[in-house]
Amino acid sequence: MTASKDPTVVIIGAGLTGLLAAQALKQHGFHVLIFDSEPHLNCRPRDWTILIHWALPLFSSLLPPSVLASFDKAIANPHLEFDEWAGTLPMYNGETGDLIFKSAVPGSRRITRRGLRDVLAEGLEIQWGRTVTKLDTESSSLEKVKVTLEGEGGIEEQNQKGGEDKAKVMRSGFMIGTCIVDYPDQSTKGSLSSTPSIPRKGPSAVRYLKQSWQGLSPEFQSFIDQTPEDDSTHTKAFIDEMGTWIAQPFDNRSGRVTLAGDAAHPMLILRGQGFQHAVTDVHNYVQALLKVRDSAADRKEVVGRYDEDMVERGSKAALQALREAELAELAMDETGVERMVMAREGHGRGV
Ligand SMILES: Cc1cc2nc3c(=O)[nH]c(=O)nc-3n(C[C@H](O)[C@H](O)[C@H](O)COP(=O)(O)OP(=O)(O)OC[C@H]3O[C@@H](n4cnc5c(N)ncnc54)[C@H](O)[C@@H]3O)c2cc1C
Repeated sequence: MTASKDPTVVIIGAGLTGLLAAQALKQHGFHVLIFDSEPHLNCRPRDWTILIHWALPLFSSLLPPSVLASFDKAIANPHLEFDEWAGTLPMYNGETGDLIFKSAVPGSRRITRRGLRDVLAEGLEIQWGRTVTKLDTESSSLEKVKVTLEGEGGIEEQNQKGGEDKAKVMRSGFMIGTCIVDYPDQSTKGSLSSTPSIPRKGPSAVRYLKQSWQGLSPEFQSFIDQTPEDDSTHTKAFIDEMGTWIAQPFDNRSGRVTLAGDAAHPMLILRGQGFQHAVTDVHNYVQALLKVRDSAADRKEVVGRYDEDMVERGSKAALQALREAELAELAMDETGVERMVMAREGHGRGV
């Protein structure tokens, strides 16, 4: 296989993983085509914050300087002084308010997902409202991937120059909907709790939380008590179950299709590892593609090695987070806390 000079990479999903990959690939001269099923960048009513800690240096290295220069716009609390205390993650006893432990996360930054998406979308052309429904790699050319969009015909991606065409697909988010709700194998799933019949959103969800959360120390209780039930903010209250998926080997169609981030290994949020592994995926994936493009290395082999590492790392991290959640449930008697990885070893890279 002769590597072409400017291959096109199709990215399915403009979440943080897809956008980071797009920025990194573009910087290295790849063409990127990005599809996302959502109608526009900020259409979701919900947002959350993410601590970028051990993967921050790798994350920074993937971005062009112009995008990295805007990173501070994504910081959740722009008024925070980044002193020693801000570089820790404290865990408190909610009833007494006592500090149980704090782990060091020096140099880390807490961003909002929405803010970082805004920053990472800079300069990218994203095709919103376009859901990918099918990937076809059976066409006559071994280098092409046909991407089918909902309600539209297929797009056959190829190198812009035509001749030595090569299309790669990085899927970010493609399986989220199905892999969490439709587990093919009972043994590969885990979830923080089974869902009782409780109100899931709006004022009744806030009321349910207020009734369930009583007797906390005053500092914590005040957060619950002051949450408004019935003003315009109520539409932003949701109670959700968290899901996880233990990554499995998959058919990468001779290295033409692969996975990264939550599409590959959604994990429970304990120890905040999900995005750190997504960043690691993107870094490794970009290195793999550069090898294929610049040294004509065998795509099947190189992307296969990427997949192997991603599946092994992602599944271990997801299992570790699941175990951590089980210990957190036991933490009420404090013996669980002592056994938690975050109490013993902090929030550093565990896998
Ligand atoms: C409350 C919370 C706190 C967290 N805290 C941390 C933390 O502190 N540290 C940490 O490292 N991680 C944390 N995480 C995890 C982190 O948020 C995720 O790992 C990361 O955001 C995943 O990004 P992604 O791009 O892989 O997936 P997503 O954000 O799910 O993006 C996938 C995108 O793909 C699109 N899509 C899906 N299917 C299709 C399709 N068929 N066609 C077109 N588009 C499609 C979707 O619309 C979506 O935009 C946290 C997560 C939560 C929920």
